[in-house]
Amino acid sequence: MTGAGPALSGKQVWQRLMAGNLRFVQGLFMRRNLVDLRRTLSQGQQPEAAVLCCSDSRVAAEIIFDQSLGDLFVVRTAGLVLEPTSIGSLEYAVAHLHVPLLVIKGHECCGAVTAAVEHPEVDEGHIGAIVRQIAPAAAQARQSGVSGPELVEAATEQHLRALAETLRRQSPIIGEALDAGRLDLVVSKYYLNSGQVLTLNATF
Ligand SMILES: [Zn+2]
Repeated sequence: MTGAGPALSGKQVWQRLMAGNLRFVQGLFMRRNLVDLRRTLSQGQQPEAAVLCCSDSRVAAEIIFDQSLGDLFVVRTAGLVLEPTSIGSLEYAVAHLHVPLLVIKGHECCGAVTAAVEHPEVDEGHIGAIVRQIAPAAAQARQSGVSGPELVEAATEQHLRALAETLRRQSPIIGEALDAGRLDLVVSKYYLNSGQVLTLNATF
């Protein structure tokens, strides 16, 4: 979608990403001339969305949405946990690259969420910092009475929604862009087997 036509709204960008996800699900990937694209993009980038997603090797946003070089500004951390540098990266995409859409894309069977559910006390290197950030969502999900894999999925969805609130609250840049209507935010979840991304929440 690089540099094509007039600027799109956040909703239009999401529709394009979902169309890309459908191509991914069906295995009908868009053909691209990556050499030409690489040369064009050497002049600068104009991505159409910022994406916060997990470091899990199975969930790369560019592949899942059938996008290419220059399309997505992606921040990946295990379990999508936030820290000042990852929030700052998203702020850069909003304030300086003027992306109209911020996507939080979690996924099914997330190892970081599973760890927060099963071993919230883990204290190995810096891994504990990841788990501690997800633990409140896991504790809240547990109150709904579910257990096992269902608890992991409930905790994941709780965590993803909490991330949206955290970004809005901790980042005046993101919060003000959302309030001014310059930015839309989608909370979504990727399913490993089907390949589908489902929308959990959207500002449009
Ligand atoms: Zn994960």
